[in-house]
Amino acid sequence: MTKVAFIGAGNMNSAVILGLINAGVSPSNIMVTNPSPEKREKLAQAHGILHTANNVEAAEFADFIVLGVKPHLITQVTNDIANQIDVSQKCFISVAAGTTMAQIQQSLSGKGSVIRVMPNTPSQLGLGVSGMYACSQTTEQQKQVAQEIMQAVGIIKWLDAEAQIDDIIAVSGSGPAYFFLFMEAMETKAKALGFSDNEARALVQQTALGAAQMVVENDISIAQLRENVTSKGGTTQAALNTFREGGLPELVSNAMDSAIARAKEMA
Ligand code: NAD
Repeated sequence: MTKVAFIGAGNMNSAVILGLINAGVSPSNIMVTNPSPEKREKLAQAHGILHTANNVEAAEFADFIVLGVKPHLITQVTNDIANQIDVSQKCFISVAAGTTMAQIQQSLSGKGSVIRVMPNTPSQLGLGVSGMYACSQTTEQQKQVAQEIMQAVGIIKWLDAEAQIDDIIAVSGSGPAYFFLFMEAMETKAKALGFSDNEARALVQQTALGAAQMVVENDISIAQLRENVTSKGGTTQAALNTFREGGLPELVSNAMDSAIARAKEMA
């Protein structure tokens, strides 16, 4: 049975652990580490999983090691593990932005396999998107298990090149905030029109949810869905014309280019 260690009992690892438990993975095959006893004990008690303060012990226990610490700590953690145990058969899954495959491989002295994952925050609800890129040493079986681990919190997309991590950051990584900004602007206007705070929020969130669900449930293009709700000369068309005249599509494209440029700077 595959054993998985989670280094760090933070937001992202907690979400993936919850997803695995919900997917029926035995708690005895999961171990979490954290320097803080409160954090790891809380998570361990909630799910019946194993816990330790010792990252090396967890890495020894597991076949797959999910690195859920802040980016600046990743290579410190992997180097520490590789200095104390044989990692040649281990698969390291890093969810950190900005720590490259080369940096992680170097910290492991080229041993073991590494998969970089770029998840997003809706993973915490099981509605995430994860871009995944595997190093050449990763076996098909390791890729399959890593995929199953990340599918516990949403959908996954394998990437052909590491540079595509920056692209997926611009789409799904930073994407939730784009929708938040749009919803925020609509909420502000709804309040200005006289709706109460609660009403404005309810109107906007249900509209966003309904629109997203229509995209999910209809097997037609998003452009077609938009056209279907836009009568010629009607109110929706008037609003959409204003968005176009203001350059919204170009603005979205430029914003995503800015996210890519920033991701490259941070790497
Ligand atoms: P977090 O701060 O919630 O969790 C990190 C945890 O690691 C903390 O509990 C901390 O105490 C623990 N920790 C610190 N040093 C440690 C060590 N040496 N050994 C073991 N544990 C240690 O952070 P997070 O939001 O879960 O993010 C974790 C990683 O996931 C980051 O690299 C981040 O870039 C990436 N990520 C997070 C999200 C997200 O939605 N939260 C999205 C994409 C990527």
